[in-house]
Amino acid sequence: MFFLRIFAYLKRCDMQFKDIVGQRDVINRLTEIIDNGRVSHAQLFLGATAEGSLQLALAYLQYLCCEHRLHHDGGDLRADSCGECPSCKKLAQLMHPDLHLIFPNATTPKVSSTSVWSGDFMPEFREFVLQHNALGTIDDWYATMGTENKQGMIRENDAAHIVGDLALKSYEGGWKMMVIWMAEKMNTAAANELLKTLEEPTPGTLILLVAESDERLLPTIRSRVQTVRLRAENGERRAENKDEYAQLLVEWLRLLFKLKMKELSAQVDKLSNLGREQQKQFLGYALGVMRDCFLHGAAGLPVEIGSGDQKFDAMFPQMVTANNIELINTALNEALFALERNANTKIALMQLSFSMSKALKKR
Ligand SMILES: [Zn+2]
Repeated sequence: MFFLRIFAYLKRCDMQFKDIVGQRDVINRLTEIIDNGRVSHAQLFLGATAEGSLQLALAYLQYLCCEHRLHHDGGDLRADSCGECPSCKKLAQLMHPDLHLIFPNATTPKVSSTSVWSGDFMPEFREFVLQHNALGTIDDWYATMGTENKQGMIRENDAAHIVGDLALKSYEGGWKMMVIWMAEKMNTAAANELLKTLEEPTPGTLILLVAESDERLLPTIRSRVQTVRLRAENGERRAENKDEYAQLLVEWLRLLFKLKMKELSAQVDKLSNLGREQQKQFLGYALGVMRDCFLHGAAGLPVEIGSGDQKFDAMFPQMVTANNIELINTALNEALFALERNANTKIALMQLSFSMSKALKKR
């Protein structure tokens, strides 16, 4: 793959709703509940982490705490957090003092104490979430933690900290938030301890369980939480995105030949309006198309770019050759890298446009 994924400089997560792929109905229902002040103190976000259950839970908290919530008249998202206020920034860095995180853990060569708990791995976990934009799987986490094939668990030690942390006063005067990721990894003793907290919630406390399956959760816990079920994103939605990316890509490529600044700038604006995650997906899609153009073009095979214009589809692959594929590849990867570092999107995409335009002329 031509993907070059370097996350070393990534400092925060994309935790606005617009960065989440799909789930629009679920999100609109959640923002409506928050706007109406009907927030339930214990909720279960049910769905695969890779499909966005943790990402959604974190975006939900960011919206809940946002000081300048955005409301949109049109579009598929009715509301979103601003992403800019102090609260949004702290949550996006997982540095909000009232945000507590619990997750499966185990003893490792580095942490061998029998009283091991989530807090022993907090810097690693934070880094893990930020790196994977909250989409990393449990196996990714075990690899980061270095458990050496041991399964992680959420144990009594973690439960004691949940109770203790929620008993403290809120630092910032708002919600005290507890996120329990992979809640199905709680052992029975921990679950029973948590149950007491769920039965007698302290005011201003919010507990979000994030789980991939509710089968292993105690029925008594399930009955005390409000469940937010992620909609399975089917192939249809992905195909829809692909068509959208193909359309955007072809429009953009045509403009790279003409290099008319006004039109190019308008196209860059259009790309900038996608969420950060979609921008990265778009660049990933573009990388794939360029590679196909190079490989198929060299073999004299047709490439379906999706322009709906046979002449363009036949002409464009000839523009990607052994002379410029490396330049194109580097330009797209640099843009991806810039977006992952949260650089200014418009500048990054404009820079990319110039580099691509230059590369295409060197065929
Ligand atoms: Zn905000």
